[in-house]
This record gives sequence, C-alpha cells and structure tokens, in this order.
Amino acid sequence: MRKKQFKAESKKLLDMMINSIYTHKEIFLRELISNASDAIDKLYFKSLTDNSVSMSRDDFKINIELDKENRKIIISDNGIGMTAEELESNLGTIAKSGSLNFKKENENDENAQDISVIGQFGVGFYSSFMVADKVEVVSKAFGAEIANKWVSSGADGYTIEECEKDAAGTVITLYVKEDTENENYSEYLEQYKIDELVKKYSDYIRYPIQMEMSHQVPDSEKEGEYITEISTETLNSMVPIWRKSKSEIKEEDYNEYYKQKFMDYTDPVLTIHSKTEGQATFDALMFIPENPPYDFYTKEYEKGLQLYSNGVLIMDKCADLLPDYFSFVKGLVDSADLSLNISREMLQHDHQLKIIAKAIDKKIKSELKKMLTKDREKYEKFFNAFGLQLKYGVYANYGMEKDSLKDLLLFKSSSADTYTTLSEYVGRMADSQDTIYYACGDSVEKIALLPQTDAVKEKGYEVLYFTDEVDEFAIQMLMEYEGKKFANICKDDLDLSTDAEKEAISKKNEESKDLLEKIKSALGDQVSAVKFSNKLGSHPVSLSTEGYVSLEMEKVLSSMPGGGNGVKAQIVLEINSNHPVAEKLANADDETLSKYSKLLFASARLIAGLDISNPTEFSDAIADLM
Ligand code: ADP
Repeated sequence: MRKKQFKAESKKLLDMMINSIYTHKEIFLRELISNASDAIDKLYFKSLTDNSVSMSRDDFKINIELDKENRKIIISDNGIGMTAEELESNLGTIAKSGSLNFKKENENDENAQDISVIGQFGVGFYSSFMVADKVEVVSKAFGAEIANKWVSSGADGYTIEECEKDAAGTVITLYVKEDTENENYSEYLEQYKIDELVKKYSDYIRYPIQMEMSHQVPDSEKEGEYITEISTETLNSMVPIWRKSKSEIKEEDYNEYYKQKFMDYTDPVLTIHSKTEGQATFDALMFIPENPPYDFYTKEYEKGLQLYSNGVLIMDKCADLLPDYFSFVKGLVDSADLSLNISREMLQHDHQLKIIAKAIDKKIKSELKKMLTKDREKYEKFFNAFGLQLKYGVYANYGMEKDSLKDLLLFKSSSADTYTTLSEYVGRMADSQDTIYYACGDSVEKIALLPQTDAVKEKGYEVLYFTDEVDEFAIQMLMEYEGKKFANICKDDLDLSTDAEKEAISKKNEESKDLLEKIKSALGDQVSAVKFSNKLGSHPVSLSTEGYVSLEMEKVLSSMPGGGNGVKAQIVLEINSNHPVAEKLANADDETLSKYSKLLFASARLIAGLDISNPTEFSDAIADLM
C-alpha cells in the first residue's frame, strides 16, 4: 500500500497550534469528543427528516475504551461517519509530511494573527498527536457499503485502506506515547483521569459518553476482602451549560464554552446568561465576540442564534431571533414553548418566537448599557468592533429603533479624548447653546483641520466628528437629542455670528452682488451660490451646502447602486471677507477674475475632501500665477 503525503500546509501551522493555543495536552480528548458529538448531531438531524435513519435519539452514544496494556485509547461514535474521500480531505490537509515535529509546548507564542489562521482551519483532530505517536481512524459513512481505515504516525504521511465495520460511525484509536522525563502520558490510560477530563471539558455534551469502569467493592461473601466490579457508566451529566444555575458556572466555563462552540480563540467581551419566565419561558446564553468573525463583512455571514427546544437543537441559526444591528451576537435560546418538529416557515410566524426575540433585543440593549456605564474601556472596545452596526440600526426601518439605540452610540469629538456619548455632549453644553454641532469627513484629523471647525470651536462649542458614512444619516433620523437639534457646521445656514456681524456681512454681500455674480458664472453649475463669509477665521475659502443634502451625504449616495438617482448637494462657495483675497478679487479684471475663481473653487474642493475635475489645469494655473 502506497503511503500518501499530507497536503501542503505546514509544519509552521502545526507548531503554532501546539505552541500557542493548545497549551494543555489534555484537551485532545475534548476535541475528539466534540468531533464525535458533531458527527452524531449530523446523523440525528438527518433522522428528523430521513426515514432511512432507523436510529432514535436514545441510540446515540460516544464510547471510550482504555487498553492499558497496549497503551491504547479508543473513542467511538455512531454518528454520520466519513467516506474515504472525507477521511482524506478532512484529516489529510493540515499537516505536512516530514515535519510533524511537535515541539515542547511551553514556548507560549500568543500571536493573535497566527492563531486566527488556526481558528479558521479545523485542527482539533490533530491535537491527538500531542499524546499519541500513532492514530488510527476507522470510519463508515452513513449509507455507505464500505468502511475505511486511515492511519498516520504523524511525521511521514498517512495511509487509507478499506476495512470491515458494521454500523456507520467512527472509531479512533490513539497509540499513547511512552512517558518521558517531563511528560506522564500514561496518566491518560487511567480511568480516573479520563473521567475527570470528560467532566471538566465535555460534561454538557448532549449524548452519553460511556466508559467501562472497574470499581473495588467489598466482597459480600468474604469479610474484609474486595472484588472488582465492572460496569458501563455515563461520565457526563449532559446538562447543557445554560441549564445550570448561574452560581454553578464560572466565568472560564462560559468562555471555554463560547470558544469551543463558536470557533473563536479569544474570550467574549460580554456574556449574557438569562432565564426568563412569563409570556415566554426560555433560557438564553449569548456572547459578544471581541472581534468581528473573519467572514462578518461578507455575504456568507449569517446572523442568528441557535434554537433549542428543551435542550435539543432544532435550528442552528435562527435569524428571526436577532435584529440586524445585533447580528454579531452569538449564542442560543432554549425554550420548552417551541415544538420540536416545527418547520422553518412555521417558525417565522410563531408568536412565541416573536416574544422571545423581543425580550432578547431588550436584554442585549440593557446589558450593553450596563457595560457602557460600568466598564467604559470595554464598551469602547466593543464599539470599535461593532458600533457601526448600531448606527445602521438607528437609521434602518425609518428609525423604528432610534430611541432605544441612541444612548448606545459613541462619537469622536473636539472635546473628548476618545469617545463621547450624546448625553455626555449635552452635559457639557453651555446654557446658551441650543444645538449639537457636527462635521463630517474621512478622518478625525481632517475634520479637525476644516476652517469651519476652527470657527465653531472658537465660539466655545464642541463639535462631533462624524467619520463613518452612516453617521449623518443616523443623526438626521434622530432629528434631535434631549430637545437639542443637530447642525452640520458645513451647512451654509449655520450662523454663529452676532447681530452686528450678521448685518455687516449681509451688507458686504449686497454691495458685492455684481462681483459674486461674475464669480458664479465663471464656475457655472458647479455651485449654486457664491458669497462672502465672516466665519472662516484665517482661511480664504471653504465650501458649504444649502438644503438637506450635505457633501458627505452626496458622496455616500453617489456610491450607491443607481448613483442615488443623481442626488447632488447644492454647493456654496464661501469667500472670507476679511482675507486679502477678497480685495484681490474686487480689483481683478474679468479674465483674471475668472481664473482666480476657478483656483479658489478648486482649492475649496480639496479642503472639503473632494477631487477636482482637472488637476492639470489647476497646477498650470498656479504655476502661471507664480
Ligand atoms: P474541526 O472539528 O474543527 O472541523 P477537526 O480537524 O477536528 O476540525 O476535524 C476535521 C473534520 O473531520 C471535521 O470537521 C469533520 O468533518 C471530520 N471529523 C472529525 N472527526 C469526526 C468523527 N468522529 N466523525 C465524523 N467526522 C469527523
């Protein structure tokens, strides 16, 4: 029989796995049991809809056998099994031939980048090589005629050959390594140790994990003597973690459960475990990951919570349980109110499910609020990862949820080092301030440099910095916060000047009507108005907009399919009346005026973060001037 090499992918990956996440060799058992349980889940699911599966739920089992003499641990399941192709593709991909060199595990190299690579591959099975120098997998896929045997000693590839096996399922035999000076592998051949490991890591597995146990019991016939009694015992309690009372569960139990079940390598930032009684009775266990899952921003990502009915999984991703703005939440709901054989279509209309979804939405919101007040640092970390979702949530469905989400929003601002809430902003407002000011731009740095920002800050007002496209849309949806309106400081109707200043500038504009008209006609339909302004500080020009649509909104709309139906911002070119350029313009002949107008407009566009239609012409004109 020819030996096959493991497919490319590398010693490095395996080394990383051993050195970074799998700091304890003992977890090999947890990994193999989880695989067995998943395989049983698959067959169990099939049995719900497929009459060819003759098994019922009580038939499913995981068995562990210890053969101390031959140093073997045998783990079997009667799950879905694997075909020869599956054995090859599932177990043959990661490790590379000649390099399965498991290093000492204590070089704890916690490089998140590396681990995330690992997180995306299934390397669970390979952990068996931490304790075994040879692994044998005999498997028969459900419905298949033939079984296959996969054998590998790690280093030099693997073999697959046909073999005998009666029922569908998988039997994994680990040939346990010899003890070394530092490692006592023989421990894993002791029933007490296996019992302990199952209880520690796999207690909630929903299928019985059984092992033949021998106990010394007093001999009833001979006083003072003992006999060995052998019996098959179920090692796990099978009570799912969410069904236990909170006081029984430690934080690390939750974290461990989350990481294992939801394929993450970092602890969640928030764990919510709730038991609800009343209109609907259900347990919920939910987690907010620290980082978005790698596919979070792809179409493939599906939101949803697992749905259990009395401890039995009935749906893996029930989307109806989570609003879009909480699509990052992972977890499950278990309710006895739901019937086991309910179909997906029926589920959508299920009244009970709607009540549960509503309660969950409320619960997550209140837990987030709690985190915001109690652990700001953590909340900001959360917001960095998922804040965008909440802002979309404010805007979505015509603002249906805006009031319940507005206090969860954070923004950068001219007064806060990190983030501010709207309520904190309002708390800092002077009595005379009746408006919440904001400005939009690509980055905090760029917004801080806008001429308008300076002017508003000089008046003593704080400016919120909107750097996400959705920010302004969300705020428009809110309309006001605690009775305070919002104002974009780049809109032309924003006016913070005194009455006298207002009068002066309006006079100036009146007097300069002809000049402004000429400038406007030089710029054509690129602008809807040109005017002198007194709010630009020391800067010569800037752009503002009239009407509802701001420049930022135009950018967003035009990038949407259909180009936002050609919605355009109405652009106003503002020229600083106190700047020397104002006088230059007034004294220029018509030809020069036209040239100056174009130059000023182009530079104002650049300041606003817009591109200019003809950069070459712009550059030529500047050189010309010089
Ligand atoms: P993961 O479980 O993270 O996907 P593993 O390396 O542990 O990665 O397993 C790889 C794949 O091999 C599994 O996804 C599963 O398809 C298959 N597999 C492993 N163990 C079993 C088993 N006992 N029965 C059926 N399939 C299994």
